[in-house]
Amino acid sequence: MRIIDPHVHMYSRTTDDYQRMAAHGINCLIEPGFWLGSDREYAESFWDYFNHLTTFEPGRAKKYGITHYSFIAVNPKEARNKVAKDAVKGMYKYLERDNVLGIGEIGFDLITDAEEEIMKMQMDYAEKHKLLILIHTPHVKKPQGTERTIKVIEKMGLTTERILIDHNTEETIDMSLACGKVFCGHTLYPVSKMSPGRMVALIKKHGTDRILMNSAADWGVSDPLAVVKAVDLMWQEGFSEAEISKVVWDNPHKFFGQSSHWKLEK
Ligand SMILES: [Zn+2]
Repeated sequence: MRIIDPHVHMYSRTTDDYQRMAAHGINCLIEPGFWLGSDREYAESFWDYFNHLTTFEPGRAKKYGITHYSFIAVNPKEARNKVAKDAVKGMYKYLERDNVLGIGEIGFDLITDAEEEIMKMQMDYAEKHKLLILIHTPHVKKPQGTERTIKVIEKMGLTTERILIDHNTEETIDMSLACGKVFCGHTLYPVSKMSPGRMVALIKKHGTDRILMNSAADWGVSDPLAVVKAVDLMWQEGFSEAEISKVVWDNPHKFFGQSSHWKLEK
């Protein structure tokens, strides 16, 4: 089983994780831009980070046969940062790099007007340049945050098939699936968010169309093999190879393949 993990923050992981992921069939992963755990004081610090994501990480991944792509963005947690707008303005040139697929993760964290402004600024650029958008939905007040995000998408008239709304749960999947043709990501965490069991139940209820799942592994309690564990459970629950492959290979290919930078063989 070949697996794509569509959301992992390898910046915060060790090389052993690349090794383990490769050994378990993950041969491509996508790394969205995130908050590094402390606020950056200079716009230039964002740009150095984007440079790191597009040079050092792909090199580290390649040693284990993993193809590494990234999304870059000024993250919702940093929307209130005084340098956020400058950071966005200087970020666009990194989108031209051939391993960058689009803008993300953007969205709501505390669901504030400042977050909406910085999200719209980046969405507008993505729409104009036909780039993919990866949207983070908040941990707290998730349904409200998702609903407000969808309103923004509709009001701006964005091309929904180029949008991935991430971190869905049982509470948000109906409204996300109903938002045009957006793709819907789900994060599998050992302690919070979705467990493999909840994920499999969700797929049984909603089917596999436009559904993706990821580990979103980062600094916190998380598991780079979370997607592998959900795949194991899907086998145990009697899903066919085609159904499992659709979620962890075909759907990611379909979504990310809309970017001209996507070169992964099918
Ligand atoms: Zn993330």
